[in-house]
Amino acid sequence: MAGSVIIRLDELLSKIASYNPDANTELIRLAYHFTHEAHCDQKRREGTPYVGHPLSVASILADMHLDCTTITAGLLHDTVEDTDTTIDDISDMFGVDVAYMVNAVTKLKQMEFKTREEAQAENFRKMFLAMAEDVRVILIKFADRLHNMRTLAFMPTEKQKRISAETLDIYAPLANRLGIGWLRAEFEDLGFKHLHPELYEEISRKVAEKRHDREDFIKELALNVEAKLKEHNVFARVSGRVKNYYGIYQKMLKQRVSFEEVNDILGLRIITQSKEQCYMTMGIIHSMWIPVPGRFKDYIAIPKANMYQSLHTTVLSSNGERIEFQIRTEDMHLLAERGIASHWIYKEKERPFDDRDAKYFNWLRELIYMQKDSSDAKDFLEMFKGEVFQDVVFVLTPAGEIKELPTGSTPIDFAFAIHSEVGNRCVGCRINGRIVPLKYHLKNGDIVEILTSASQTPSKDWLSFVVTHKARSRIRHWIKSEQRKQAVTLGAAMLEDDFRKNSLSLSLLKSKKMIEVVHTFNLRTFEELCVEIGYGKLSAHQVVNRLKPDKHPTEVEPISIKPPKKSKPHKGIQITGIDNLLYNTAKCCFPVPGDSVMGFITRGKGVTIHRLDCNNYQRLAVEDSRLVKISWDASGDVTTTTRLYVETIDKPGILATLSSLISTFNINLSQLEARSAQNKHAHFAFTLEVKDKVQLTNLSNKLMSVDGVISVHR
Ligand code: MN
Repeated sequence: MAGSVIIRLDELLSKIASYNPDANTELIRLAYHFTHEAHCDQKRREGTPYVGHPLSVASILADMHLDCTTITAGLLHDTVEDTDTTIDDISDMFGVDVAYMVNAVTKLKQMEFKTREEAQAENFRKMFLAMAEDVRVILIKFADRLHNMRTLAFMPTEKQKRISAETLDIYAPLANRLGIGWLRAEFEDLGFKHLHPELYEEISRKVAEKRHDREDFIKELALNVEAKLKEHNVFARVSGRVKNYYGIYQKMLKQRVSFEEVNDILGLRIITQSKEQCYMTMGIIHSMWIPVPGRFKDYIAIPKANMYQSLHTTVLSSNGERIEFQIRTEDMHLLAERGIASHWIYKEKERPFDDRDAKYFNWLRELIYMQKDSSDAKDFLEMFKGEVFQDVVFVLTPAGEIKELPTGSTPIDFAFAIHSEVGNRCVGCRINGRIVPLKYHLKNGDIVEILTSASQTPSKDWLSFVVTHKARSRIRHWIKSEQRKQAVTLGAAMLEDDFRKNSLSLSLLKSKKMIEVVHTFNLRTFEELCVEIGYGKLSAHQVVNRLKPDKHPTEVEPISIKPPKKSKPHKGIQITGIDNLLYNTAKCCFPVPGDSVMGFITRGKGVTIHRLDCNNYQRLAVEDSRLVKISWDASGDVTTTTRLYVETIDKPGILATLSSLISTFNINLSQLEARSAQNKHAHFAFTLEVKDKVQLTNLSNKLMSVDGVISVHR
């Protein structure tokens, strides 16, 4: 039908009258003539008068059984963009509702962007925001895109490809998410057709052949099923269905199979009169043929995210062929085709805002919230693609409330979905009463209980396994602000230290002169300066030099450590009196408290501690503005990871002896690697959690005294 999609006004009006006899035809006539007039000197690429396009858009909206306001806006959707008409004109003649929609659709039009992705992303974000305001705006946009897709052949090839890719990327998934099945299928097939013409050609030809071959078989099957159902007093419509071309293509790609191996190209759809009959029907089908294990899906009890409901099952027919059945009620069928549009479908009585609507709108609200969180449109698009278009799992809170999360979500994602504070304080999780790791992948129906602790804070590790945008952004946000706080403290302390060394008065820190110096580094505030120093991008020395311009710059040297004045350090390390700093120990030399160490400031990681005799440290030490001296307090119950290498004679029982010896020291053995060498020697690498160097030395000495041990070293 592409190309020749020209519809007349009277056809549109009779289409509307067929489902809405009370329609305000005057308004629609008026809109038609207005549009005709406004676009009178324009033509479509296909050479037909422009008015054919808005008329077709209105007709598609009528196919969706939408109300008069939406159809009127559909007729007018291009007038403000392409002609001299203003929104005020529209508002005066057609009312504020129509004007609002036309305005929103106009705003969705492409703007100037640097790159195509940017344009696409920004368009998408705008589309989404408009949708959140009034979904009918998106339905008009959908109808607009659909007509443009149907007439795409008249566009230059380059443009065909771009528009098709965008349709497949955004429009089809969005239509799917909004539950409009027929629209998704048509978007997909039209996009596929122009993006991969040869493949499309091949698949559509093969489907036609298959259809032709199987027509009688499917018909007979349908009759058989219908008769059998009747015996059980189930009166149902049974019809054949064909998977859409793009769906077949996707399946071939995903399962790496040929066309011939895709086995649900042809299937049967059974529409029953009630939910109970759906289950009965399935029972009857299963008594007629053997069901294929694992292919039965109950989307009636657990609807898909877009509220699609149906029973799916595949059976083996008598000749060994697989046949797929979809079983649903009339109501479910309508919803599967119309989705969110069903809310605005013209009906004699206003349908109250029901649960189903509430679910669609909740989802939209969630999205609004997420889009506020993402700083640019591209981020948002990525997030949307990643999160919303993938499948979901439904889990329950202990109170029985259902939460919808993307597949692969973990307890951390769940915790952040409940509340940021729950996420921030999450220490553990019970699923159906059993403790599970935080990396656990939630499954449908899990009852999820989050364990929290007031002293817990988000961990960087979480980023490696969370999947929701919300969890990720909250964790990042926490880490960033924490790092910045620490950088400020560290930077200020390093600066003070350098001041003292140069006998500068600390009151200078708060002086006007200081602010002037801050500006010379192209920074705005003293705090920003401290951040730069704390991150090791500036040295305290550079700052001091600018405060004492007469003096020649001296060698930069690592700052010295001052014992803390009064406050007792309570955790691992100190740098010039700051405690509780974000730090980690270097994985190359595994230092422990008591070793001679130095700190090296690593952006985003705080301070990394190396042993002085570490080779890596020797290399890093060249960049001395990033070095800090460290005093490492071993009191408290903090342990540090380190590694001991033990070489022994390879004899039975030696490992058991070593391990039990380690445990007598109350040292946790977290990892063990073992290998035996050619010379009948065994090499062990123990990863241990130790308190300090003293404990480690004691252990080494004890290990050395074990019979068969040749060497012990770090
Ligand atoms: Mn248009």
